Amino acid sequence: MVAAREFRDIFAERLETMLADIAELVGVEAGSYDVEGVTRTSQWVGERLSRQGFELNYEQVPERGDRLWAVRKGNGQGRLMILGHADTVWPRGTLEAWPFAVHGDLAEGPGVGDMRGGLVLAINAIEVASAAGLADFEEIKFLVVSDEELGSPLSRGWIEAHAKQADWVLTLEPGRPGGGYFTSRGAVGAFYVEAKGHTAHAAANYLKGASAVRQLAILVPQIEALTRLDQGTIVNVGIFQGGDARQVIPGHAKLHVDMRARTPEAAEALQKDVEGLVASVATDRVSVELKGGWTRPAWARSAESAALYEIVATASREIDAPCFELTNISGGSDASFCGALGVPTIDGLGPICNDICSRDETIVVSSLVGRGAVFSTLISELWKNRQQAAKG
Ligand SMILES: [Zn+2]
Repeated sequence: MVAAREFRDIFAERLETMLADIAELVGVEAGSYDVEGVTRTSQWVGERLSRQGFELNYEQVPERGDRLWAVRKGNGQGRLMILGHADTVWPRGTLEAWPFAVHGDLAEGPGVGDMRGGLVLAINAIEVASAAGLADFEEIKFLVVSDEELGSPLSRGWIEAHAKQADWVLTLEPGRPGGGYFTSRGAVGAFYVEAKGHTAHAAANYLKGASAVRQLAILVPQIEALTRLDQGTIVNVGIFQGGDARQVIPGHAKLHVDMRARTPEAAEALQKDVEGLVASVATDRVSVELKGGWTRPAWARSAESAALYEIVATASREIDAPCFELTNISGGSDASFCGALGVPTIDGLGPICNDICSRDETIVVSSLVGRGAVFSTLISELWKNRQQAAKG
C-alpha cells in the first residue's frame, strides 16, 4: 500500500480549502431542470480540472445543462474514468431557506452530499495522487453528467460509450452512513399504467360511463403487494391521477410506478407479474396499459469490482477510516450503467452522507480526510499495479 497515512495528512491540511470549495459549489443552485446552474457547475469542475492539465470538452444537452468530459493523457498505462454529476434534486430557491452551514462535524445545504462533496473530493484525490507521482495513467477521464437525478435519460449512451473505453470507473455518489461503498446496485424502473374508459355524467348517463379510476384503484394494492422487502423487490405507486370532475365518470387515469429489483432476473420476473395484473383489471370498456421501463439496469457484483473494494478496504484499515461494502442495494446510479457493462466499477467514493436527498441531508466533515486519503490511495494503487503488470 503506497501511503494512505501520508495521504491522510495531506487531506487533513486541505480540509478547510475543501470545505470552502463545497460551500461555493452548494451556493450554485443546480436542480436538474436548471440549465444555467447545471452548466455553471460543470464549468466550475472543468475550471478546477484545467488547472491540473485536463483538456475540457463541454457538450450541450437539449433543455438540460452542459455536460463535461475532461481528459488528461499521460505516459503510463491504464485508462481511469471518474464519474460524477452536476445536477441536484433541489430546484432554484431552495438555497434561500437552506444555505450551506457547518455544525460541529456536519455540513448541510442543497446537494452537499449528492454530490457537491464527491466532486470536490475527486478533484483533490486526483491532485494529491498526481503530486505524489502516482497517477500518470495512459489517460484519466472525468465525466460530469447533467441529468443524473432524472435517471440520466439523455446521458446513458454517452456514459456507456466512455465507460467501454475505460479500465475502471470510480463513481462519486456519497458514502452511506458508517462508510459504505457500493460494488453492486439494483435495477430501477420508472413505469406508468394508463387506463382509458368512457366519460359520462354520473346522474344523467350512468350506464354510458366506464370508470378508468375504478380499475386502477383495484390495481394499486395488487401491484404493491408484489413488494418483498427482504429480497429488495419494491413496487411503489407514487402518483395516482384521474378524472375531470366530481359528477363525471372518469374516462382516464394514470399511475406513476417506481419499481426496484436486485438482479436482472428479478426485474424481469417482477415486470411479468405486473403485466399480468395490469391485463387482469382491463375490461371490455376500459383499456389498461403498462408503459415506461427500467431506467437503471441491475449491476451485479463482479470479482473485478470487488477487487476495487479490497484496495479501498485495505487503505481504510491502514488509517482507521470506517468502511464497509454495501450489497443488496435497491437504488441505482450512473455507476449501474458501467457496472452492468462489466467494467470494473466502484461507487460511493464521496464523503459520508446522512439522509441523502432530504432536507436533513448532511455530510460528515471529518470523513473528507479519511475518504480523500482512501480515494487517492485507490488511484495510486491502480496506477502502480498497472505499471507493474506492463513491465511483466
Ligand atoms: Zn447522485
